[in-house]
Formats: sequence, C-alpha cells, structure tokens
Amino acid sequence: MQRPDLRPIAVATPSQDTLFPDALVALGAQRPAILFDDLDDIQRRLLAWMGPPPPREVWDPLTQLIYSLCSSRTKDAESIATMRLLRERYDGWPSGPNSWDEVRWERLRDAPVAEIEETLHLVTFPERKAPQLKQMLQQVTERTGALSLQFLAKYRTDKIRTWLEQLPGVGVKASAAAVNFTSLRRPAIAIDGHHQRIAIRLGVLPDKATARQVEEALMPLAPPAWTPATMDEHHTLVKRLGQQICPLREPRCHRCPLHDVCLTGQRNAPGPAAAPPKAQHPRGEHVTTD
Ligand code: SF4
Repeated sequence: MQRPDLRPIAVATPSQDTLFPDALVALGAQRPAILFDDLDDIQRRLLAWMGPPPPREVWDPLTQLIYSLCSSRTKDAESIATMRLLRERYDGWPSGPNSWDEVRWERLRDAPVAEIEETLHLVTFPERKAPQLKQMLQQVTERTGALSLQFLAKYRTDKIRTWLEQLPGVGVKASAAAVNFTSLRRPAIAIDGHHQRIAIRLGVLPDKATARQVEEALMPLAPPAWTPATMDEHHTLVKRLGQQICPLREPRCHRCPLHDVCLTGQRNAPGPAAAPPKAQHPRGEHVTTD
C-alpha cells in the first residue's frame, strides 16, 4: 500500500494567541468589548436553558466528511436521512461493533455521478454535491493509496486541517467537524452558519467575519479545561440556540439566555430578559453537524 504523504501540505500558522486577527483590522473592525467572561459563561447559560445534548454518535473522519459535504445548507432531518440512504446503497457501515470503526466507502466512490446525485435527492444542490463527493473520495484514494483517513491520527491538528481543506468541497467548518466530532477527537470548534451569526451578534466579531475568523476568535476564549468533547457540546448548544431563538430573521432576544451578555440583544431589547422556557433538544436525533 502506498504510504500516505503529507509533505506538499503547508502547515497552518497557529493563530490562537490572538483574539482579534489582523484580517479583521483590514475590514475596519474595532477590537470588540465582549460582555461575557469566556465561553464557559455562554456554555453554563445554554446548559441551564436546554440541558446537555444527547451524546453524539462518534464516526470515523471520512464518514463525517461525507456527512459534512452532503449536509451544507440542509436541515438535519434530511441530512441524516441522506446518510442512511448512502449507507444502505453503498454498504457504508462500520466493519466492527463500534460506530467509529473503519467504514468502507469504495462503492460510493466508484458509483456513477448520476446515481450518487439521485441518492442525494433530499439535500440541497445534489447536482453540485454528487460530483464533489466523488472527487473528494477519489482524491483521498489517489493521495494516500487507500480510501481511509485513519492515518491522520498520527499528525498534528493544524496539519490535518490544512490537508483536509485541500480536498474538493472541504472548508473550515467541515475540517473542524472531521477532527472534533470523530474518533480523532481534536480541539476545534465547528462554526456553522448559526454559530457565525451568533458570535457576530454577541459582539465578538464584526459583520463580515468569516467562519475561520470566528473560530480563531473563539478558540482563545475556550477555558483551558475544555476538552474536545466540551467544544463539540458547545457547537451543538449554540446551533440549537440559532435554530430555536436566534434565527437569521427576527431573533427573540427577550427570551434568550444570552440576552444580558449580547450586544445585539441589549440593543434590540435593553434590560434584563424574562426567564425563558426550558428549550428542548429534538427527540430521537443523534447529534451531528450541519
Ligand atoms: S440576545 Fe438576541 S441577538 Fe443575542 S444571541 Fe440572543 S437572540 Fe441572538
């Protein structure tokens, strides 16, 4: 078997020593005056409001990457149903008793694009995602000699993410999910659209901040005691807040557990918030990224 070679990949410069990246200064942003202490402050409020999320079904990194590619701009229920269809059609099931055991995806890689597109009919843009998915799986095979990402466990987190982000369709959120949600269990906060919007509304970053800039700004605010699993839980809690209280349009600031530490909340509805009703995690759904 060909030995995986990561040499051509540039190593990302760690940027966790700065809360406010230079790129944001270029956007004309001022250093933010955030109202909360650290991410633990946010986490405590969200846990008190909706309780701990159901435990994640931890997958291998390649299966997570496939999920991330399919699920962008798609509701969780459709993404999960699509994953089920892919696993049934292409035998993408764990080979051992644990869900994070290696999954075989060769049949998906070798399937015709039109057939993959038909299997992805529940998600958005299947005509774009199907060829991207096939190309991603082909590139993993060509570059490593096998259709597996288990070898990544030997490498540093920043190097893994840079390598993953060179694959078709893999951006900063997908690479964070691949290292954090999976058997790799590395520190990273996956920034989906909800997280990006809420970080901006909290006042951590200016309006035009990208998902990468949000992650770079938030990681130093994670307490040293936080484990990769805590970061995973944080992602899920913030995502739920975005789905239930802080959507793109008409955020319900007066019901929000972050109201008194949110710059936008204080602007929209000054003063203390009414006690919100206890929110619920969706029933029967194993938690995955979007
Ligand atoms: S206070 Fe309003 S803007 Fe701030 S996070 Fe809550 S719902 Fe969103």
